[in-house]
Amino acid sequence: MRWIDTHCHLDAAEFAGQSQRERTLAAERGVEHCVIPAVNVASFDSVRTLAHACGDSYCLGIHPLYVAQAQRSDLDALDAELTLRRSDPRLVAVGEIGLDFFVAELREGALRAKQEHFYRAQLELARKHDLPVVLHVRRSADMLLKYLRAQDLGKRWRGIAHAFNGSLVQAQAFVSLGFKLGFGGALTFERALQLRRLASQLPLDALVLETDAPDIPPQWLRTAPGVAQVPHVPRNEPGELPRIAQVIAHLRDMTPQALAQATARNATAALPRLAPL
Ligand SMILES: [Zn+2]
Repeated sequence: MRWIDTHCHLDAAEFAGQSQRERTLAAERGVEHCVIPAVNVASFDSVRTLAHACGDSYCLGIHPLYVAQAQRSDLDALDAELTLRRSDPRLVAVGEIGLDFFVAELREGALRAKQEHFYRAQLELARKHDLPVVLHVRRSADMLLKYLRAQDLGKRWRGIAHAFNGSLVQAQAFVSLGFKLGFGGALTFERALQLRRLASQLPLDALVLETDAPDIPPQWLRTAPGVAQVPHVPRNEPGELPRIAQVIAHLRDMTPQALAQATARNATAALPRLAPL
């Protein structure tokens, strides 16, 4: 089965020294491809190197949770890197970019303005370099949509609203702008009713799969024996993708095979450079 993890931070410190081992394990479970988004300028080299080493792909961008530490010149560095890697077939999108209004300090004042500035500037870079975008959406769907519409330029967007957890109306708005919605570990929790409803009611061609590893561990990792005693959240891994997908297939009353096929097709529609990979 051809599973694609459309969002996996394989370069994260949590995988220190084990990224390739985790990637091999995931491949043994049928994860054929991982998209590795950057989070800041310092991660540009590591996501590219890993993507090449593992036969995967990568995105270049500045994540909203890293905007506070970023310099304005980092946007020039991103522009330069996008130019330098223009003909690298494994560069598939600008990302991870977006807005995070969950964290209180980032929601107001200067940091809020800085987040919006970085988001808008990175949308412009995506247009300039003709690349899709991978979006971080946390309590920010309407504002993300506003900027996307403002930069419509008569040309359709492509990309993924990752770890989507908004309303049905917001989901439809992203879809109508050209986006796919990423679903992962969060909907493995039985109490995630709204998210489960979304994943089962949205048209099949709107969905892509992701782990967001090492973040958003699925329910079975949280409730594994002994985990309750461990003070930190367990690490999610790309190898969890097939089991997460089983949950979605079950919710949609379809076979995992059919879901794998459809979501691989959707991932390629969102990130066209995946096609030959
Ligand atoms: Zn992410």
